[in-house]
Amino acid sequence: MRIGGYRVQTVLTSTFRLDGGAMFGSVPRVLWEKERAADEKNRIELATRSLYIEEAERPASNRPASLPPAAARPRRILVDAGNGDKFDAKGVEMFRVEARPIASWGVPVEELTDVFLTHLHFDHAGGMVRRDPGGALALNFPHAAVHLQKANWENARAPWDREKASYMKENIEPLAAAKLNLLDGEREILPGIRAGVANGHTRGLQWLLVGEGRGSIAYPADLIPTASHLHLPWIMGYDRCAETTFEEKRAFLRRAVEERWVVVFEHDPRIAAATVKVDDRGRFVLDEVVDL
Ligand SMILES: [Zn+2]
Repeated sequence: MRIGGYRVQTVLTSTFRLDGGAMFGSVPRVLWEKERAADEKNRIELATRSLYIEEAERPASNRPASLPPAAARPRRILVDAGNGDKFDAKGVEMFRVEARPIASWGVPVEELTDVFLTHLHFDHAGGMVRRDPGGALALNFPHAAVHLQKANWENARAPWDREKASYMKENIEPLAAAKLNLLDGEREILPGIRAGVANGHTRGLQWLLVGEGRGSIAYPADLIPTASHLHLPWIMGYDRCAETTFEEKRAFLRRAVEERWVVVFEHDPRIAAATVKVDDRGRFVLDEVVDL
């Protein structure tokens, strides 16, 4: 899909499973299992779905001769990096992770100029770091600038006890050697790409908006991980503050309806993106599924 000066596509980087109860917090299983089937261990199928954003080529004739070659390169941006493939046998079994090799993503990863990380939980940042055959950890995209909220970076390096299992050191520590751009709150990161901030899921989660106004593409990450989470009270048990998430989600969805955003569901295995409407009972529901 083209928007502004960019071409945008989704990239499925892995499938995995998490406990259905944990994914829907206080919602009883009799309700959520109508939308999401659980396996014998009560887990539901999930995906990690990144975005790839490519700036349209600048025609050579428009390129000022004074511009250095690096600045003249079009931006090639990855949004979140999925689970990665570092899990040991126990982790693979627990989360039933099936990582898709980076070479199969259909994205020119060697040429990435930027990575936007929504936050550093393992299912979003795991793919930033690989384990080499000798056992050493290495960055997968060492030449890309990595944009992240400063609050999330600080939170990830010193998480509270309940979040320690999600902020895995093997994904966080190597990032200190990356070209980190730590952001302070909501702002435009690149022309036509804005970061919003939400704190209910974890401190300093940034969600993204590509485009201006009507028809923009929104990437809420774990603010709305699947299409089922459009229901306002369906909030993950993992969240640090359900009340904050509820308010942040409502504000996000009001804008999504008003401005007819295409909303990307990072963890939904079936629905990559859709527009949203309000039904006759005042609830936010899917409108049109969008192929992205
Ligand atoms: Zn997640």
